[in-house]
Amino acid sequence: MATAQDSSTTPDSSPAADYDAIIIGAGISGMYQLHRLRELGLSVKVYETASGVGGTWYWNRYPGCRFDSESETYGYSWSDEVLQEWNWTEHFAAQPETERYLNFVADKFDLRRDMQFNTRVAKATFDEASRRWEVEMEDGSTARAELLISATGPLNAHTMPRIPGIDTFKGDWAHTARYPKEGFGGRGNDFSGKRVGVIGTGATGVQVIQEVAKTADELTVFQLSPEWCTPLHNSPITEKEMADIKKNYTQIFKECNETFGAFHHMLDGRSALEVSDEEREAFFEEKYAEPGFGIWLGNFADILFDQRSNDLITEFITRKIRERVNDPQTAENLIPKDHGFGTRRVPQETGYYEVYNQDNVTLVNLQDTPIEEITPNGVKCSDEDYDLDIIIYATGFDAVVGSLKRIDITGKGGQKLADKWKNGPRTYLGMQSAGFPNLFTLVGPHNGATFCNIPRCIEQNVGWLTDLIAHMKRENIHQVEPTLDAEDAWTAHVDETAAATLFAKVDSWFMGVNVNNPTQKRTFMLYAGGQMNYKAKCDESAEDGYEGFVLT
Ligand code: NAP
Repeated sequence: MATAQDSSTTPDSSPAADYDAIIIGAGISGMYQLHRLRELGLSVKVYETASGVGGTWYWNRYPGCRFDSESETYGYSWSDEVLQEWNWTEHFAAQPETERYLNFVADKFDLRRDMQFNTRVAKATFDEASRRWEVEMEDGSTARAELLISATGPLNAHTMPRIPGIDTFKGDWAHTARYPKEGFGGRGNDFSGKRVGVIGTGATGVQVIQEVAKTADELTVFQLSPEWCTPLHNSPITEKEMADIKKNYTQIFKECNETFGAFHHMLDGRSALEVSDEEREAFFEEKYAEPGFGIWLGNFADILFDQRSNDLITEFITRKIRERVNDPQTAENLIPKDHGFGTRRVPQETGYYEVYNQDNVTLVNLQDTPIEEITPNGVKCSDEDYDLDIIIYATGFDAVVGSLKRIDITGKGGQKLADKWKNGPRTYLGMQSAGFPNLFTLVGPHNGATFCNIPRCIEQNVGWLTDLIAHMKRENIHQVEPTLDAEDAWTAHVDETAAATLFAKVDSWFMGVNVNNPTQKRTFMLYAGGQMNYKAKCDESAEDGYEGFVLT
């Protein structure tokens, strides 16, 4: 395998840069994959569009951005030194802390040495003769590698609304996934004296709204559909708690790895239908009072599968919203009518519903009064003009496949990945697609890491792929590609598994649905069989000599 010595600051010049592996993206998976491939002695280059490491935690610096996983379950588990040296300050850390954490890891392992920032990969073409990927950056520079690993993240390709007049707005604006580093006018999260509009009320919008409402003179929330939101119950981590966490990391990670989504919450095997009304109510109350996803992923398992059980928890959360919002009509507007609790990813909130009891906050229900256009002065709805100084778009992502589709990827026989996936992704184990040898998709579509407390499953993805690459080195194998049969079977399995849940019955980014991206086919993007099943399937393939893959 080739070796390459070059600087992380100067662009590669064609055709000299030739690596064993190119990784696209310097987020949590790209960083760990680089570390593991270095340990194998490979030459590796990471290309990253941003100016620093962090991926999601670099880009999503909007007001209020923070974890919905417990901090101690989110960090990397593979370095005892990192585990013992890093102190989390909150049970659900905010974005600046997570970005600092990832920079701490990058410093510790000198990861930036093999990273080139401010560089967008625009094109990747598989050269069948040399069995290498030729990669072209947006600035025209090129590089080659035997292995191409995408670590681009499932929620990276953000989508802007397609509203007439959107370019005419004279005030400040940003999508949450490209929020200015110092805030608007360098004012951070201070919105005093400002009239702010937020469009979008998913998990991101909910976090933004809570934060902006604290200081804005006026906050107008433009809501297309409400979500079922539940309390995060965040709190500081005391010194004593952090010391205990450090002693218990092995157990914490073990427990996470034994749950459906690797969150620190175990689904309860009982049915919501088999307990008495009193017992069920007490259990729901207990879960509602618990920090994090207990109410969703620590609840009766069948709320995710059985409509009758789902109706019970949905009714419970409906009551909570009505209790927390003073104005009955506003409460009704905040209650989802088209899907049950937990069938979309649940936004975790801190005083979200109470925001609507404040005088400075207005909720606009876009189902009654749609946005007609964005004007130079603000947002024009069918019944009223809203004058604004700032518009924040929390309008979501071209999820899971978006960041791959935005790269012009060509495999064997000139086939484009975007064409192959135009009716939805087709993969084997969510790691590869037939016709695209040596292209691996960490946390890609159909991959168990997508429905997961992501770093836990990233470690599985990276570990599995590193073992495969080590096997390639040992056995002098230069090409890996799944069979079409394996791909068809896995894709069918992904769809069948999803069909057994309530997730597939509801529109959300899990199904690739985003109103700003109407050409995306509605299909399940994740893997709903649970991370343990996913890991077992990956391990079975490896133990059977990478069954389902052709290794040459
Ligand atoms: P999202 O769930 O897709 O929500 C996008 C929101 O924007 C929806 O309310 C959508 O309404 C609305 N919207 C989109 N286009 C619109 C338009 N043209 N006009 C008006 N409204 C529009 O995206 P997200 O909130 O960014 O969350 C995505 C995922 O990121 C979450 O599910 C979660 O997995 C992750 N996340 C995690 C955290 C965390 O706590 N760690 C925080 C934020 C996000 P419709 O639903 O009606 O289309």
